[in-house]
Amino acid sequence: MRALRRFTVRASLPEPLSALGTLATNLRWTWHQPTQDLLASVDPVLWAESGDPLRVLSTASPDRLESLSRDEEFLGRLRAAAGDLDRYLTDDRWFQRRRAEQGDGAPLPSAIGYFSMEFGVTEALPNYSGGLGVLAGDHLKAASDLGVPLIAVGLLYHSGYFRQSLSLDGWQVEHYPVLDPRALPLELVTERSGAPVLVHVTMPGGRVLRAKVWKAQVGRVPLLLLDSDVEDNDEDLRGVTDRLYGGDQDHRIRQEILAGIGGVRAVRAFCEATGHAGPEVFHTNEGHAGFLGLERIRELVTGDGLDFDQALAAVRAGTVFTTHTPVPAGIDRFPVDLVQHYFGDEELLPGVSTQRVLALGAEENPGLFNMAHMGLRLAQRANGVSKLHGTVSRDMFRGLWPGFDTAEVPIGSVTNGVHGPTWADARMSAVVEGAEISDEELWELRGHLRGKLVDEVRRRTRASWLQRGASALELGWTDDVFDPDVLTVGFARRVPTYKRLTLMLRDPERLRSMLLHPERPVQLVVAGKSHPADDGGKALIQQIVRFADDAGVRHRIVFLPDYDMSMARFLYWGCDVWLNNPMRPLEACGTSGMKSALNGGLNLSIRDGWWDELYDGSNGWAIPTADGVGDPTRRDDLEATALYELLGNQVAPLFYDRTDGAPRGWLAMVRHTLASLGPSVQASRMVREYVEELYAPAAGSAEAVVGDGYRGAKELSAYRQRLRSSWARVRVLDSEIRLGEGTPVLGAPVSVRARVDLAGLEPGEVDVQAVLGRVGDGDELVDAVTTPMRHVGGEDYEVDLTLPHAGGVGYTVRVLPKHELLASRAELGRVVLAG
Ligand SMILES: *Cc1c(COP(=O)(O)O)cnc(C)c1O
Repeated sequence: MRALRRFTVRASLPEPLSALGTLATNLRWTWHQPTQDLLASVDPVLWAESGDPLRVLSTASPDRLESLSRDEEFLGRLRAAAGDLDRYLTDDRWFQRRRAEQGDGAPLPSAIGYFSMEFGVTEALPNYSGGLGVLAGDHLKAASDLGVPLIAVGLLYHSGYFRQSLSLDGWQVEHYPVLDPRALPLELVTERSGAPVLVHVTMPGGRVLRAKVWKAQVGRVPLLLLDSDVEDNDEDLRGVTDRLYGGDQDHRIRQEILAGIGGVRAVRAFCEATGHAGPEVFHTNEGHAGFLGLERIRELVTGDGLDFDQALAAVRAGTVFTTHTPVPAGIDRFPVDLVQHYFGDEELLPGVSTQRVLALGAEENPGLFNMAHMGLRLAQRANGVSKLHGTVSRDMFRGLWPGFDTAEVPIGSVTNGVHGPTWADARMSAVVEGAEISDEELWELRGHLRGKLVDEVRRRTRASWLQRGASALELGWTDDVFDPDVLTVGFARRVPTYKRLTLMLRDPERLRSMLLHPERPVQLVVAGKSHPADDGGKALIQQIVRFADDAGVRHRIVFLPDYDMSMARFLYWGCDVWLNNPMRPLEACGTSGMKSALNGGLNLSIRDGWWDELYDGSNGWAIPTADGVGDPTRRDDLEATALYELLGNQVAPLFYDRTDGAPRGWLAMVRHTLASLGPSVQASRMVREYVEELYAPAAGSAEAVVGDGYRGAKELSAYRQRLRSSWARVRVLDSEIRLGEGTPVLGAPVSVRARVDLAGLEPGEVDVQAVLGRVGDGDELVDAVTTPMRHVGGEDYEVDLTLPHAGGVGYTVRVLPKHELLASRAELGRVVLAG
């Protein structure tokens, strides 16, 4: 019989064990080994099967629980773990110490709202599709460890992303198992009265989309997840949070409206009910969550009587926007008509003009609404996720700041990091932290981790073949798949074209001969999901699967279906080499290689994303890129050849070069990797940078615009208004540069003078700058040095300076807006150039 409906009954724990409930629901257990050990000992078999403490507690036998409740040794460990969690949640940590040190200096925010469409905290809460979600999960965990007061906001998807399996002929098959929120580590957010919080968002035609709000507790950080599966909702609206990235544009905009607008309402309700401080800073993690800024504008317009521009100034000051993709197709865009459909009657956001909303998302194509553009226009501070991605993003979005050089585009970068305690083997972490370890011990540890991976590969290969329809009798060979002593290379990631899953198959014979090399064999584990609508990606997976199905190589290459966090962990632990071959520069950062490095894996990667800045020549290998080659086929050929050569001629020989049983040269590289990358790839480093470079300055700006009845916001808005009416008439009337006698030399003094018509603006409201630089091929100034000029009365400005460059040098004069509440000189995208 099939169950009509499935529901979960939580175990009622005997009173002495009640602390187990807290330890199992606070997701800190996911990165705290002693808590995991304790939970596992409740029922080691169930734990090994599920890895999910709530499942263990709800299925453990009452007898077992009863006997544990009288087991003094167990109760002692339980008290210790509960006490440890309690201290973890309440003690001062880095953020609190940082606040105590700085006294009355620039404020640190009392809370930060962190909005993301996906969160990968643990496989026990499958609410992510890939890198973006796992990064968000790592961000929360590191923030918790550092005491950074985040309130995270997203959606609860009833089928998560999808589970992947394979058909017999290697085609991806998607499954959408339905989750029961009550079986997940979640708690309903309730009002002070005890009634569940219901967020309301108005849909066209006066319909209402309601969402309840679940809370997952990630250490110290509450993660609020909105859920539209509410009985009072119309049937189609109940499905808004059914799947992640699973519907059409209409489905998606509803999700983004709920996450952004509903998300802010959920935060307000949560703070109201719990007395939690409200956020001064809001972090928009990728454009999807960008509607949050519009809701905050609405709050200020309807609640505080500001006009749109004043509200915009106030909202921008406290908003941080992070862009995560340099792939134009990866940017969220909606047809303008669709946005008009939801915002047009102004019922969704009363008091917020649709025209203004549409202008925030305007892009080159007048028919499209661009969520990244809106994200950038609603945030005073923005960043990419590696240095290279920062550079690429400044170029990609430079059109929003016309007249400025790419280098001046106000998008910085914070390189992503990964949460060490989640991803690194505990013994390896001790090595990163400086524990002494001999070559023999280190090699033994690497072998142990590789061995765990080999066991997992065998288990999953067998399961996958059973799933594909093979009978157990034909699967004896799966017991011998992979060899615990063979050089193990991993490649696992989503399957968009730019990641080039099949680059390794460019020359199948060459790959085959490397896998089967008599002295120096290589084994390759591949995994990754293709977006359900992407048949091209599925065809790539099929190519790999077909190659790996061949009885001649299937012991040395596997494709493991259903890449997720639980599989990923084994791959990062066990692989000796982590392969990454994206089309440079389309990988914004990449984080899987960081997780491998924390376990002593060596990266073999194109110099893209994080690897471009952290590869130092001896902590792994850089696959040379054929950057200038326009023809993609030719480029793939060149880069694949470079990959084979590195792997065959450098990587494998080093791995198999043994002295007294251990590969000394290899281990030296492992040690260097742990030492050079160990500290810099940590999410704690990343979150500290977000605090220092973005959250704290944003809190300062927010305080400056909000105080004294939003005086700052009103002044800034009035200033922008004045610029709007005058700027078109601001002009550099004339300018000259005075050189000394004879041919000027580097470092010689010069003076620049200019006359400027300010069109009614005050001299204090602009910056007039002399710009000197080399003259490039197109007469543009390169390596420009800008120096502010003195106002010497009337229309006159001047400055004395020294020549910064030898060779062909040029100069110009420019005028910029100046206001103490601006965060960068390019911020308003306004500049007047001489001539
Ligand atoms: C780390 C991780 C990713 C992201 O890896 P990239 O290198 O950014 O592609 C994706 N999925 C899972 C399960 C991960 O753990």
